Amino acid sequence: MTLKPLLFATAVILVVGAPLRAAAPADRVFRAGAATSNITPPLGASLDGYIAQGTRATRVHDELHARCLVLDDGRTRLALVVVDNTMIAREIHERAKALVPAATGLMPGRILISATHTHSTPRAVPLHGDAAEREYQEFLARRIADGIQRAVSNLAPARIGWGAVARPEFVFSRRWHVKPEARVPNPFGETGDQVLMNPGVGRAGLLGPSTQPDPELFILSVQHADGRPLAVLANYGLHYVGGTGAGAISADYFGAFAELLAQRIATPLQDPPFVGLMANGTSGDINAVDFSRPPGPPAAPYARIREVAGQLAESAEQVYRKIKHEAWVPLAMAESDLPLAVRRPTAERLAWAKQVWSEVKDKSRLTRRDVYARETLSVADFPDQVPLKLQAIRVGGLGIAAAPCEVFASTGLEIKARSTLRPTFTISLANGYNGYLPTPRDHQLGGYETWLARSSYLEVEASEKIRDELLRLMTIVAESVR
Ligand SMILES: [Zn+2]
Repeated sequence: MTLKPLLFATAVILVVGAPLRAAAPADRVFRAGAATSNITPPLGASLDGYIAQGTRATRVHDELHARCLVLDDGRTRLALVVVDNTMIAREIHERAKALVPAATGLMPGRILISATHTHSTPRAVPLHGDAAEREYQEFLARRIADGIQRAVSNLAPARIGWGAVARPEFVFSRRWHVKPEARVPNPFGETGDQVLMNPGVGRAGLLGPSTQPDPELFILSVQHADGRPLAVLANYGLHYVGGTGAGAISADYFGAFAELLAQRIATPLQDPPFVGLMANGTSGDINAVDFSRPPGPPAAPYARIREVAGQLAESAEQVYRKIKHEAWVPLAMAESDLPLAVRRPTAERLAWAKQVWSEVKDKSRLTRRDVYARETLSVADFPDQVPLKLQAIRVGGLGIAAAPCEVFASTGLEIKARSTLRPTFTISLANGYNGYLPTPRDHQLGGYETWLARSSYLEVEASEKIRDELLRLMTIVAESVR
């Protein structure tokens, strides 16, 4: 099965945006401030997830940060924060926003916080419920709030612009159609899944990828009024890269990109320091492995991270050098809470889960089947509906849409194509964590991202409802009267 050519399949196309031309009102100055806040946990922190059982942190390859950018058009002030964490529960986001002092002028509804989805960090979601977990999550919230406050302290006259380039080399569908005879049972013992997640390079029986990735590397650049770089917020739809060492803490390619871009465009020890941010786009079904090619030689730890981050930083610099920065653009932000239904296990599945879980002898050594039995029981206790925090931001003519899920690439591409604001980019894993967001078609295909668990529990139509609500919010911010 082959897919139609990509939107920008072959050539690297550079698109530099012309911000919506708006004369700066005489009394308004555009200002921006950026700062980072170190959020590295102590060694010994648990690297467990809902599904994957990790280890404890025994080393730090690179420090973790909350990277904060505050924009102010003279009337509206808003904050964009990218946090080196796999996923952050809504309560922790809300705790962080509540800790931002009112004196900063930033109400919770003007703060967008997202997790990058690096897998080499603790998961900031309720897992073990122990003191160490609670302590780190409180520390994380406080450090995020500190970072926002520090970015506000750095507010200075600034100018802003954006551009984009296609980098299809590092984004591939991680869900592949498999021939009926090559299908494998899922953890519930069923064999109806038509796709396999991360099937392995060179695996027999693969038919083709289930989706088209979004290859766009988007760059939002903020400079000081004198042209010195202040911050760059990049956006790319790549799950994460991985290939880190065992027990190591790392910000994955998201952190490496920020570091390498700073080396390219900023001055060392600049005051205040330049801040790079890489926000995760819509990458729920996308990773950096091309399963259609024969496997290459095994890479050393961090080698692939350096390669991806290095090449994207090079592209980001090329885009950055061509951006025409504007002295003033209007800002607007809107958010809403969208109630969505929770999928329920069938009575039969629930009985299966209770049976399997009752037979588990050692709860520290779970099989995949045991994990999904536990997950089934966890989701069975969920409320019937959960509210999802959705946000839209307008920066001049640019739109930013944010959702608290691992959004699939097709949903992101649709939001980009249908948004009132052009261009628009999307940020996943923002303001909460509500699991994977497969489309109804993906639910039909089955596979890991659709298996009922705390990592996938929203109603089958959730992706369409979220898309529609984000498009509605985008129209609101686009039409906001200045
Ligand atoms: Zn994920």
